Parts: sequence; C-alpha cells; structure tokens
Amino acid sequence: MSGSILVVGGGFSGVTAAVEAAEMGYDVYIVEKESYLGGRVAQLNKYFPKLCPPTCGLEINFRRIKTNPKITFYTMAEVESVSGGPGNFSVQVKVNPRYTTPQCNNCVPGAEAVTTEVPNEFNFGMDMRKPLYMPNPMAFPNQCVLDASAVSSGDGQKIKAAMPPGHIDLDQKPEILNLNVGAIIMATGWNPYDATKIDNLCFGKYENIVTNMMVERMASPSGPTGGKIVRPSDKEEPKTVGFVQCAGSRDENHLRYCSYICCMATLKQTLYLREQSEDVEVYIFYIDIRSPGERYEKFYKKVKEDPKVHLIKGKVAEVRGGSSPGGVVLVAEDIIGGGKIEKEVDLAVLATGMQPTGATIQIPGIEYNSDGFVVPKEGIIPCGCAKRPIDVVSSAQSATAAALKAVQTLVRRAG
Ligand SMILES: Cc1cc2nc3c(=O)[nH]c(=O)nc-3n(C[C@H](O)[C@H](O)[C@H](O)COP(=O)(O)OP(=O)(O)OC[C@H]3O[C@@H](n4cnc5c(N)ncnc54)[C@H](O)[C@@H]3O)c2cc1C
Repeated sequence: MSGSILVVGGGFSGVTAAVEAAEMGYDVYIVEKESYLGGRVAQLNKYFPKLCPPTCGLEINFRRIKTNPKITFYTMAEVESVSGGPGNFSVQVKVNPRYTTPQCNNCVPGAEAVTTEVPNEFNFGMDMRKPLYMPNPMAFPNQCVLDASAVSSGDGQKIKAAMPPGHIDLDQKPEILNLNVGAIIMATGWNPYDATKIDNLCFGKYENIVTNMMVERMASPSGPTGGKIVRPSDKEEPKTVGFVQCAGSRDENHLRYCSYICCMATLKQTLYLREQSEDVEVYIFYIDIRSPGERYEKFYKKVKEDPKVHLIKGKVAEVRGGSSPGGVVLVAEDIIGGGKIEKEVDLAVLATGMQPTGATIQIPGIEYNSDGFVVPKEGIIPCGCAKRPIDVVSSAQSATAAALKAVQTLVRRAG
C-alpha cells in the first residue's frame, strides 16, 4: 500500500489539488506535460471573478509548492501507463529532456546565437520564438527550454557555446520513472476546440477571424502584440468586432455540451476592447447568454448597458469576405429583430469551447467517456476541466474535493 498521491496535470486544478493534499500531510507527485505549471490560466490576460492577471492566483500556489517538501513535480513529463488498483497503483512516467540546467534562466545569449525561429505555441503561433526560450514570463520553474530539434540540427552547439558554462546539457536523455501511489487525481484540463473543424465559420480562410484564446494572448501585455487587440491582416485596432458564440459548443457535430465559460469570456473580452478604444462597436451573436450566478449576471448586465455593445440573438450560420479590405461578414437569423442579418466587421472572434484533453490523448489504464472527460473510479478522481467544463473558481473547488477523496482512499486502504 502506498501513502502517496499522483496528480496528473499541473494547471490550476492540479496545482490546487497537490497543495491541498500535501498540506494535509501526504506526499504528492505532479506530472505535467508542458515545461511549466499553471496550465491554460497562464495564457489568460485577466481572469474572473476578480479580473486579475494570472500571476495573482498562480504565484501564491507556486510559493506553496516551493516551500512544501511533500510535493515533487515533474514538467515535460507524461504518464505512459497505469496499473494496479486503489491504494496500490503502479505508474510509469516518461520525463523528456529540457536540455538546460536549473540555473539557466536567461536565454538571451543563446537565442541571439542562432537565426532559427519557430511559431510560438504559447501565443497560438501569432509570433515566433527562438529554439532556446523561456516558456512564458511567469514560468514556473523559471528555467529555459531548448527544443529537441535544435539539439539534432547543430544549433544546439552554437547555443551551448554562447551560454554560460553548465547552462546547456545536450546529453540529457528521456528518463523513465516508476511511481507507486495510492490514489490518482486527474487534472488534465482542456484544449481549445479546433476551430478549423467548424467549416462554416471559415477559420483559417480569412485572416481577420481569430479565436477567443488568441484574443486573450493579444490582450496580454506579454502577448504577441504587447497588449493590443489588432486585426492580423494590418495590425490595426479594429473599429468593429463580431463575436460568434457557441463556436463548436452545443453542437452534435462538434462539442455536444455547453462549454460554460464562453459567454463570460466574450463579455470579458468586450470589456478589453472597450477599454482599448472609446469608439469600437462590438456585436455579439448568441444562442442564449449563460452567465451563471449573481456575480456573472451582474457583469453581463453591466456590459449590456454599454450603447456600443450590440447583442444579437441568432446563431451565425455563414461567414464570408466583406467589401472593405480585410472585412468579414457574419450572417445570422435575427431571432428577436426578425429577418436575416448580415454584419460586416473588421475582426471576427470565434468563441470556441473547451474540449477535455482526453478527447485527443488518453492515458492507458484511465477510463474516459465519449466526449473525453475522465470517468471517476475508486482511487482515480477527476477534477477541474478534466471532469467537466468549468471556470477557475469551480476548478479549485473540485480540486480541493478531489484531494479529500484521494486522502480518503489512502486512509481506507491503509486501514
Ligand atoms: C477564452 C477563455 C477565457 C477564459 N477566461 C476565464 C476567466 O476569466 N475566469 C475563469 O474562471 N475561467 C476562465 N476560463 C476557463 C479556465 O481557463 C479553466 O477554468 C481552467 O483553465 C481550468 O483549469 P484546469 O487546471 O482544470 O485545466 P488546464 O488549465 O487545462 O490545465 C491542465 C493541465 O494539465 C496538463 N496536461 C494535460 N494532459 C496531460 C497529460 N496527459 N499528462 C500530463 N499533463 C497533462 C496541461 O498541460 C495543463 O497544464 C477561460 C476559458 C476560455 C476558453
């Protein structure tokens, strides 16, 4: 029997579950596939309920991890298999090399030594990065990463020579760890639904159609446009913006469920746009606005009162190029006003939903439902968006509950 807990996924949910379980006195391992902890929240500009930057919630948790010897975390790590049962799981984990050492936290000399650039995945490819990079400005751990492709291309040697001795280690190899744990908390979160799959919304066909997560990155001071929401075609601030709600969500052909956050994300992003420009007009095409709870409803009402914000009840059925350079026309049935509405905007934003990562990558030994959400079992406890699409506050609550359930498994099995 093992007295340890494994948390798979180091986003807000995973980090919360780990800290809660460790502070109850249990040994916890976090296995995170990216090179940093924080998950999708790290990519947001500001987040509800307080509309503070991601640092405000994440850094407190990072500090709790740093100071708690009961937590061991692995980044760039993936669970390869799970066997056994409650109280006694055997888990195989692969930790991929970072090719840097812990003191490597300033990439500049190495990055400047090579000309190679690759699309920056943290910013959804809206800018480029060098093969030696810091994953994001608040990265935890604060350690650079060197792409495996650079190691094999020869850029690795140039980067190593430009960096202080001991910062780059080109000989690192993947490591296999075998963990014995009593319970597993699945906090593997979500990915943005792939907008290219929604044919009628033409993402990728017209340059000035972006997704809501791209807007989060543009709005962020550390993002690809230094905090400005612009049209990709000419980098100008848009004067008219159209939001397409339920882009993929509540649709039998894509995500069958409501993604919970998209209405609130759009209202938040409307605020970003209105703070950016006094003149911008925002058009929100929706099926119905979902703003659960008193706080969110209040926020909705506030945004709705703005005369520059136009809410149109109607699902966008068609998108086509407009008459102005770079313009995009959104076509919908106006349920309240009546008739067909065709609105040309400078920038269209697809409010794409949250799809569980289990829809694309599944861990052998873990059960998923047909949408990709983790199915709970004794000793295997999903939380956050691995369980259902929810906001950060609800993710933290479900993570705390998952920590308690994991501890109960250990106590029950030990007894
Ligand atoms: C446009 C938009 C705006 C939003 N704005 C807000 C907001 O203002 N306020 C709010 O409350 N919520 C907001 N949300 C929702 C918020 O992002 C989620 O509630 C939150 O990310 C859930 O955290 P999580 O830890 O469950 O998942 P994630 O943030 O997705 O974290 C999951 C982690 O698990 C890792 N992982 C995945 N698979 C594996 C694997 N197999 N092995 C190891 N690691 C793995 C991932 O790399 C990631 O680090 C927004 C969502 C969208 C789409």
